[in-house]
Amino acid sequence: MARHSQMTSFELNDLSKSFQADIWLAENFGCEFIIGQNGWINCSCPFEDHSDSSPSFGINLEKGIFKCFGCGKSGNFVKLVSILLKKDFIDTIKLMSEASGFDISNLDTIEYKNEKFKKALEEKNQEKQKIDKLILKATIKIKKAMHTNFEKAEKYYQKLDEIVVQNNIKLLREFVNDGIK
Ligand SMILES: [Zn+2]
Repeated sequence: MARHSQMTSFELNDLSKSFQADIWLAENFGCEFIIGQNGWINCSCPFEDHSDSSPSFGINLEKGIFKCFGCGKSGNFVKLVSILLKKDFIDTIKLMSEASGFDISNLDTIEYKNEKFKKALEEKNQEKQKIDKLILKATIKIKKAMHTNFEKAEKYYQKLDEIVVQNNIKLLREFVNDGIK
């Protein structure tokens, strides 16, 4: 029931495995497959930036993956379809799930997760700006202290260095606000 409420990379692999890439490649890119080894079937590479006369390209339906020994591209079928059709991740998943009857009722969740991730990155960026400001504040204090007590300034600088490495904004704020003692 809630199996696909959140699409993990594991479930992306499930989607890849349920996608009949051999039929899809034959119908859309004229791929003619020959049986290879260990579950691989091979054809000439369908990517437009690789003109391939030998069957360098292979897919493994059981594993849901592809690899080209000519141009080096490899990955799961989601990546394969996405590159070949020049579609983004969400559109590719939609298309593949429709083609293979894969339950994709979680798609809103993926979009939601993307939005959440974007927001988290923005917050990280804001935190970085706050940290930069605090370091600037500390630097001004150090420059002032250098004129009166160089040793103290140097110690403070070393301690600042240690705290910055820890990337803990709370600790940094406390340290900078406490000032040089
Ligand atoms: Zn290739």
